[in-house]
Amino acid sequence: MGEAMASAGNADQLPYPPRTTEFTAPFWSAVADGRLTTTRCTRCEFLTFPPKVLCPQCWSRDVEYVVLSGRGRLATFTEVCVPPAVFRDEAPYVIGIVDLEENVRLLTRIRAPFDELTVGLPVHMVVRHSQPVALYEFAPSPDTENVCEEKNA
Ligand SMILES: [Zn+2]
Repeated sequence: MGEAMASAGNADQLPYPPRTTEFTAPFWSAVADGRLTTTRCTRCEFLTFPPKVLCPQCWSRDVEYVVLSGRGRLATFTEVCVPPAVFRDEAPYVIGIVDLEENVRLLTRIRAPFDELTVGLPVHMVVRHSQPVALYEFAPSPDTENVCEEKNA
């Protein structure tokens, strides 16, 4: 009975899940729904990532959750071949820094082979349906094929 599904479920069990709190619950819930959110200061409009209970720009506690586009460009990336022990089973994997359209910078897993990536590549958020929480990752956007390289064919 469904051994394949059971092992897939185990494979999706995070070895080192993020700690969730009452404050970050809306963030993780949105990720599971495929939306990337963060907090914006209602006083100075500063966007921060990850969500924070107070604004790092003006120290106001008047922050609200806003939905981000989930689209951006790859600022830099690397392949992790010697990971921390808890991520041993997932190596090698790619991590990168993404600059979102909203001018928010974040560190994320990149769901693509290292050799297929370039700095400046358009990327978008994808959901990793893991347990106990879903995670965000980024993947190359499908409309990137005519940006470069294809012209050499
Ligand atoms: Zn502020």
